[in-house]
Amino acid sequence: QLSSSKWRRSSVVRVGGVEVGGGDLVVAAGPCAVEGEDQLRAAAAAVKAAGAKLLRGGAFKPRTSPYSFQGLGERGLELLRKVGGELGLPVVSEVTDPRQVEAAYKYVDAFQVGARNAQNFELLRALGETDKPVILKRGFGETVEEWLSAADYVLLGGNENVILCERGIRTFDHTLRFTLDVGAVAAVKRLSHLPVCVDPSHPAGRREYVEPLALAGVAAGADMLLVEVHPDPGRALSDSEQQLTPSMFLDFMRKVTAVFRAS
Ligand code: PEP
Ligand code: MN
Repeated sequence: QLSSSKWRRSSVVRVGGVEVGGGDLVVAAGPCAVEGEDQLRAAAAAVKAAGAKLLRGGAFKPRTSPYSFQGLGERGLELLRKVGGELGLPVVSEVTDPRQVEAAYKYVDAFQVGARNAQNFELLRALGETDKPVILKRGFGETVEEWLSAADYVLLGGNENVILCERGIRTFDHTLRFTLDVGAVAAVKRLSHLPVCVDPSHPAGRREYVEPLALAGVAAGADMLLVEVHPDPGRALSDSEQQLTPSMFLDFMRKVTAVFRAS
């Protein structure tokens, strides 16, 4: 298995000019979905001011209901590129289909593969043929072994730039939206050489749980965090309950940085 730590102890993946797995905690933050230029610029300015190094924003949104906001598509990627460029933040966005890869390549610094496409092998193969980083989420019903095999689909194509992202799995308990598998974070740090990201927003489901989950993820060895921040979460077109306000994010950054330094 190419993702195994048998071959290499640890890999550094560069997203734009930002090193993930190089010893500093990298935080990617921004709205769940790109909703418009003003919304994106406000989010980007806020996350940059708080110390985020990468800008996230969904353009192709994998929504549970087909009646929900589906994202701005390529227009969303254009806005990400524009605003990220203005602020000097490399950008991350999700692709949900191999047919989107070529167009998205022009705009993003890293592709995100979402939990719902964690084993979309045609998508993983298509991304394996590119040279841009892939942030590979764990599917909510995926074992660690299956997650690492999915990473191998990308690596086998020749793209060595894979970042594993734990975002919570489905368990019997629904107090939070998903169950962040902190043990799996520690496990993949041992089993694989790939950098590891934690997304505390999607397992949290509610703003107040985002920070504790992030702190646990960092303590378990995460190299990176992927966090949803919206200038006015109450008006967000998706995931409105879990996106942090800019002021919450400022406080969040202080705490995760302190725990990262201590661990
Ligand atoms: C996202 O990060 O926007 C997202 C849809 O997350 P997930 O695939 O983990 O549900
Ligand atoms: Mn979201």
